Amino acid sequence: TEEILLKSEKVSLIGDLAAGIAHEIRNPLTSIAGLVQLINESDHEKSIFFKDIILTEINRINFIVSELMVLAKPHAVYFSWFNIVDSIQNVIDLMQPEANLRNVIISFEREKDVPLLYGEKNQLTQVIINMIKNAMEALPDGGEISLAATSVDGHVFLSVKDNGVGMTDEQKKRIGEPFYTTKYNGTGLGLMICFKIIQNHGGSIVVDSKLNEGTTFVIKLPEHAVAAIDSVH
Ligand code: ADP
Ligand code: MG
Repeated sequence: TEEILLKSEKVSLIGDLAAGIAHEIRNPLTSIAGLVQLINESDHEKSIFFKDIILTEINRINFIVSELMVLAKPHAVYFSWFNIVDSIQNVIDLMQPEANLRNVIISFEREKDVPLLYGEKNQLTQVIINMIKNAMEALPDGGEISLAATSVDGHVFLSVKDNGVGMTDEQKKRIGEPFYTTKYNGTGLGLMICFKIIQNHGGSIVVDSKLNEGTTFVIKLPEHAVAAIDSVH
């Protein structure tokens, strides 16, 4: 069961996103306000405990904001010709230590003649990072993540496959909605950011997932992202 995920209508609903951000940030802020009040009425030991929770809540807000910065920094968006295969290899090298700790084996099948891509290197690298992170988190007992890069008719196809927990139909429908997460400590922003970035490059994402078997994301990108240039300048 494959689903095409070009959720342009979803990711462009700025109002939804703003409401989500407001909600996600107000919760920790409310608890910080309450804790400050408590500190005033507490002894030294208790106030140390409350200060710890305040720091955790502040870090949570900071993390959400930094995830969103990927989208909110137009001056840092710079399109150029670059080698996506090298970028993927760099991400794998970077994540290798964590993969080892988690008993995850990452492989990368790179076709010889994958052409250069015209796009925003940092953003497309971020997409790969987010997808490998999700794949690792879908492998609580270890497993395999297989990446591949091929090209067909002026398009580059990148796939990220894992043999992890997979998704229900309900999950598949909802992924990419801002703040949709099934994880205790998730933000539910990773895939929304992936969809937005790929959309900005005139590409699309397809997901194929089966519960308890695994998940495959396939990203299709035009070699020359014309639509993207218009949307940036
Ligand atoms: P987060 O990782 O913070 O939960 P994401 O937007 O990256 O947010 O992912 C949203 C949800 O999509 C996850 O909580 C999970 O339910 C599902 N998901 C994403 N990638 C995978 C995967 N490789 N395998 C299984 N479920 C996944
Ligand atoms: Mg994620």
